[in-house]
Amino acid sequence: MRAKSVYSPPSPLALHELNYLLIDNRRIEIRMRSGGRRRTRVMFSYHPDGILFVDAPANTTDRTLRILIHRNEWWLRKEIEKYSEGEHVVFPSKYETGQILYFLGDPTTLRVRSGRAPTVRHKGSELIVKAPDDEPIQNLVHEWYREVAHPILLNSVRRVWYSTRVLELLPKWRHKFMSSKWGSCSSKGTMNLNTHLVKVPQKSIDMVVLHELCHFRELNHGPKFYELMDRYMPDWKLHDSTLTKFQGLLQEPLG
Ligand SMILES: [Zn+2]
Repeated sequence: MRAKSVYSPPSPLALHELNYLLIDNRRIEIRMRSGGRRRTRVMFSYHPDGILFVDAPANTTDRTLRILIHRNEWWLRKEIEKYSEGEHVVFPSKYETGQILYFLGDPTTLRVRSGRAPTVRHKGSELIVKAPDDEPIQNLVHEWYREVAHPILLNSVRRVWYSTRVLELLPKWRHKFMSSKWGSCSSKGTMNLNTHLVKVPQKSIDMVVLHELCHFRELNHGPKFYELMDRYMPDWKLHDSTLTKFQGLLQEPLG
């Protein structure tokens, strides 16, 4: 009798006869490259055209390859994400291990582990959340974003203000999760920044801060407003278009 396989692959990644695999409905072609006799390990490399190159020893079985591909799923997802520059970021549909989140523009993989007291730790390109099983992970992640947002935004506000002196005095500011805009300023002279900004690249954060600071001098988006932007950040349009890529993050329903 044949031994029953104990290996069952995780769900979203489907392999088809080892010709291609599907990740979130994206078709990734698998292209085998014949390894010479001296090759002893299986190596993967991802090409942005949606091809997974596999360099494997000649005697590698399909079963071994399947297991190795599944084991490298997180790595593969990260590679795919890295090369999707032109595409738009969407908010996370679920908060589970393997989900890609963003921190200062970098894709960051969520890892959820069981633990007694909830903790959130950012390490390298991972966000590691330990929590009891019934704890809502989304809330913990948002709480973490809120905490790290303060020093990051404070630094940006001070730096942009100091280097441009677009205003005489540093205005009062605060941050909160907002669903329609990255920043605004109130008639009382307070600058509001969106907490979601910690997910976008630093330069885009600075661009939003400068935009709001300029509004204290020029209320409307008239030619004078854009003169100020051009003067203090000549490449602001570039950072503005980067920001557009992340616009989808604002649509996340927050509990
Ligand atoms: Zn504006």
